[in-house]
Amino acid sequence: MAARVYDKIPIVDTARRCGLVLDSRTLHHSEVEASCPFCGDHGAGKYHLSLNTDTDQYRCNLCGASGNSVTLYARLMGVTSKEAYQALKLEGKVYPMPQQPTPKTQERQPLPLEARHAMYSDMLEHLTLLPRHQDNLLERGLSKERIARNQYRSMPETERGRRLLAALLRSDGYDLLGLPGFRTYYGEWTLSGPKGFLIPVRNKDGLIQGLKIRLDDADDPGRKYRWLSSRGLPGGARSYSWVHVTGDTSKKRAFLTEGPLKGDVASYLSGSDALFVCIGGVNALHGLKDTLVDLGVTEVVEAMDMDQMTNEQVRKAILAIRREVQQIRGIKKYSKYTWSQAYKGVDDYLLSRVAER
Ligand SMILES: [Zn+2]
Repeated sequence: MAARVYDKIPIVDTARRCGLVLDSRTLHHSEVEASCPFCGDHGAGKYHLSLNTDTDQYRCNLCGASGNSVTLYARLMGVTSKEAYQALKLEGKVYPMPQQPTPKTQERQPLPLEARHAMYSDMLEHLTLLPRHQDNLLERGLSKERIARNQYRSMPETERGRRLLAALLRSDGYDLLGLPGFRTYYGEWTLSGPKGFLIPVRNKDGLIQGLKIRLDDADDPGRKYRWLSSRGLPGGARSYSWVHVTGDTSKKRAFLTEGPLKGDVASYLSGSDALFVCIGGVNALHGLKDTLVDLGVTEVVEAMDMDQMTNEQVRKAILAIRREVQQIRGIKKYSKYTWSQAYKGVDDYLLSRVAER
């Protein structure tokens, strides 16, 4: 993240708000010691996390985790730095009961696809799409009908709403352990993640593999999308960069692009329900080959963003994608979809054509 000057936010106050256990013997020192929520100190009752009251920075002498008040809060609460800053500046000082972290064992894997699909489908039923998010989707060229069909939803805005959502899923009979995005917070289940709207990422049969969040407030303008994940958080599970399939899966020609929303929009704007296969990023190829083979497509058309070929690393990654796809037996034709440089993505280009009609 780019350097940014924040107002002084006392690190010990922040640690209390995050529920960290402080070593009371060090409270009057300039370095206050706390139990590390990131590694659990490799055993209970130890204090490897140093809180420097001069610089308001933290650092774990065991796992090396480090940062300031804002990044500590953001990491533990699963929100963006901007959201953490706002929370720390605006909310009253209500501290939860400190809780001893549990030593970290192996990272929890996500539940199987069928379980994720069932639980995420139920979750989407309980959520709505806020008007500002609907406007954002309409501006991209989607119709209200398509927006409804694709099931975009807004992240619950409040902590109370998130806990309620988790409670509803549990009352529907689901165990949230292993569903990326959900975590426990002092024993209570809640949803973790920044504010924004959710984009279902589906396999070729329409099953929801995972959800991507289009952030309201991205720290980095180049990273407006994040997987819904609760990796490393209590009760949480990681996500993977799943491949998204959208459009008519009976088609023999697939367009290849990056980002599930871009694919949804481009497929809709194509006017013919074109088949789009969307990878999570140029370096996220896992599952691409299997998806194309399972779909039985014979032709792949590359429709990556136009500006990507100017970045050397991205260019290399795209060439690697090309090689991987061209090696698939059954794919007879591989071509590159080109359009005016004035439009960054295939969705922007198709939107301009629709506007002309
Ligand atoms: Zn640590």
